[in-house]
Amino acid sequence: MTPRRPLIAGNWKMNGLMASHDDFCKIVVGAKTLRDKADIIVCPPATLAMRFAGSSEGIVEIGGQDCHAEPSGAFTGDISAEMLFDLGARAVIVGHSERRRFHHESDADVCRKARAAWRAGLLAIVCIGETRDDRNAGHTLSVVAAQFAGSIPDGATAQNLVIAYEPVWAIGTGLTPTPADIAEVHGFTRDRLTARFPRSAQGVRILYGGSVKPSNATELIAIDNVDGALVGGASLKPEEFLAIAGAYA
Ligand code: PEP
Repeated sequence: MTPRRPLIAGNWKMNGLMASHDDFCKIVVGAKTLRDKADIIVCPPATLAMRFAGSSEGIVEIGGQDCHAEPSGAFTGDISAEMLFDLGARAVIVGHSERRRFHHESDADVCRKARAAWRAGLLAIVCIGETRDDRNAGHTLSVVAAQFAGSIPDGATAQNLVIAYEPVWAIGTGLTPTPADIAEVHGFTRDRLTARFPRSAQGVRILYGGSVKPSNATELIAIDNVDGALVGGASLKPEEFLAIAGAYA
């Protein structure tokens, strides 16, 4: 089996001002001892991405939180994958549940954005995950299967794709699925990858996201096919983010 290098990505969402640069620098300093064993990405708001990229010392990669599918044009307020690459980003999150919910992004939209990420040379971190209602109705795997099929373009490789399984009901709530439930979805996702991308599937990393904290990080990384974490709230606190990364490294 291809060994997969752990990846810990922090999603700062719409948080952070220029003064947050100090927190980012703390992450860079703390990550120096972890970089041999894990990849670390911070996805700040677009307003901070260029500044952070200039201070990342090649130790922490910078990611965008979203991108437009087109490279440029009359799309007021949007940012293209090429613009992210140009400022120094090397990854972008697409299809986060908050984009799907508040911006009504469909699987087809997410697929176009992932393709745009690849066109620009970015790693696409594609988010999938069920709502509480989906899970209660026993539809978790069918929802994940549909999002996987619709959101991930042909041509995925271990170098250009990371999947983040993020149950919507676990994001920012302090709740997490049981280890058995996470193992089921990650194993199912690996099977989908194998069926569709037989040559790359074993190398593609599948992150778990949703209320990851220092206190549960060790338990989560021990689960089969959990190759890292997408961290929201805890990534805003350098000590917590580094403690999570330390558990995975
Ligand atoms: C997220 O929004 O991607 C996320 C995982 O958030 P949190 O860690 O705060 O649940």
